[in-house]
Amino acid sequence: MKTINEKLSMNRLSLSRTIFNLATSIFVLAIFVTQILIADISQKTFADEFKVHLQKRIAQTNANNSASQSVEYKIEVKEETWKGEETAIVICDMWNKHWCRGATSRVAEMSPRMNEVLKAARAKNVTIIHAPSDCIHKYKDTAARKRIEGKRDSDFEKKFQSNSWFKGLLPTEKGAVWPIDQSDGGCDCEPQCKQGRVWSSQIDILEIDDNKDLISDSGTEIITYMREKGIKNVILLGVHTNMCVIGRPFGLRKMVTYGQNVVLMRDLTDTMYNSRKSPFVSHFKGTELVIEYIEKYVAPSITSVDFLGGEPFSFKGSKETTK
Ligand SMILES: [Zn+2]
Repeated sequence: MKTINEKLSMNRLSLSRTIFNLATSIFVLAIFVTQILIADISQKTFADEFKVHLQKRIAQTNANNSASQSVEYKIEVKEETWKGEETAIVICDMWNKHWCRGATSRVAEMSPRMNEVLKAARAKNVTIIHAPSDCIHKYKDTAARKRIEGKRDSDFEKKFQSNSWFKGLLPTEKGAVWPIDQSDGGCDCEPQCKQGRVWSSQIDILEIDDNKDLISDSGTEIITYMREKGIKNVILLGVHTNMCVIGRPFGLRKMVTYGQNVVLMRDLTDTMYNSRKSPFVSHFKGTELVIEYIEKYVAPSITSVDFLGGEPFSFKGSKETTK
């Protein structure tokens, strides 16, 4: 038989064990909750960051053939982490209709993938700028238009001619040879299409978020907005790489001049190139040659894979005809 003292002492032992267990449980729970909170905060901090893979072609200096005309280029891919709020996508001239029926159908073909890129980028707080040149009046009553309309820094405009096309070449293009003959306008169709201004809006497949996006074809408005908002990274996509994408007031060469960190999304673009013209390669090979030129002399390129994963976009039939 246990004495009363023994019983009391056992009860006390049991009580202290219970208190100890309870304290341990609370401690473990507190650590668990803290970990969840930390994970949540870090997710919020990094939610609008994303990785991009910038491709450039770097000239190789070879001591043995320094006198040779042919310089070899090596592809270099650099990974960078960009913040959404410091980045904009500029969609160049993705019109509802082009005077060239081949160009019109290729715009339609790449639009669904492009729209997915825009959605993914918006979710990362990237600013989306729709730039269907000559068609801006159609959007005059939208919030997306009003958000950027009239933005102007006249000193900057004067210094960089931000309201006009880029003329000539960048200093980095000195001595470079343009890879295709586009003097005929670049229609690859048979019979040839009749040239004219037939576009009236951006293609409908590309959704415009009127609560967030911008609409402008003005270099001055676009660069002023970017500078005001601290946007330094610019992704150019759309058409045509050898004309508007490289030359417009918001195009690649101008963005380089403005000091922006600009890249071309190389799988969501096209060229105006007629394969019956020099260098007599397929239409799609012509596009590749222009992209190579850009990667050598103008700006790096990325692909839609950085936003969507999977494989880069390619036009139907491009893989068979690229030679
Ligand atoms: Zn055509």
